[in-house]
Amino acid sequence: MSDTIELIRRQVADLHRELVRYRLVVWTAGNVSARVPGEDLLVIKPSGVAYDELTPRNMILCDLDGNVVEGDHAPSSDTAAHAHVYRHRPDVGGVVHTHSTYASAWAARGEAVPCVLTAMADEFGAEIPVGPFALIGDDSIGRGIVETLDGHRSPAVLMRNHGVFTIGKDAEAAVKAAVMCEDVARTVHLARQLGEVQPLPADDIDRLNFRYRNVYGQRPAAQ
Ligand SMILES: [Zn+2]
Repeated sequence: MSDTIELIRRQVADLHRELVRYRLVVWTAGNVSARVPGEDLLVIKPSGVAYDELTPRNMILCDLDGNVVEGDHAPSSDTAAHAHVYRHRPDVGGVVHTHSTYASAWAARGEAVPCVLTAMADEFGAEIPVGPFALIGDDSIGRGIVETLDGHRSPAVLMRNHGVFTIGKDAEAAVKAAVMCEDVARTVHLARQLGEVQPLPADDIDRLNFRYRNVYGQRPAAQ
């Protein structure tokens, strides 16, 4: 049990470096969390600690109501939102939040990123939807994430006037979705500067998304 928690602490600390590497965060904004498999626990970034100072040791272990179980700092101020997602989505093992520039610009306009690129059909399988405006402090952000992504193929939601939340089967998948979300938000923004973007037909989006989920990538050799 403690070995599993140690592993998750290390994964979550390491994945925060990816947010910096892909320029999705500034100062102490943004956070990654992971569910502890098989337990009603999550590991999340401490509040207000610089990215350079994040270590496995100072990650915070919380229960799924957001209460601290183990940790010397306060947990991220977004912990209630992450905890709400884990309570309502047993399939989710990782949650990421950023204010990445291009995606947040779409959120500021309250506009979904239309699915106009094959890479978007692959990773998101749809437009990247907009969730409600919600103030930090209770679980209204978490409710907005869960309600917007319910029945939606996208692992990313643009919370209105705020930023991006992504979900994944684990924390790495949620970080990947956050990286891809910013990348396509940027590309579609640039395309818009020069004219209209061309939507992808719905059945092509379905085909691309199915292939990406089921066929693409390295697969173990047949026995
Ligand atoms: Zn935020």
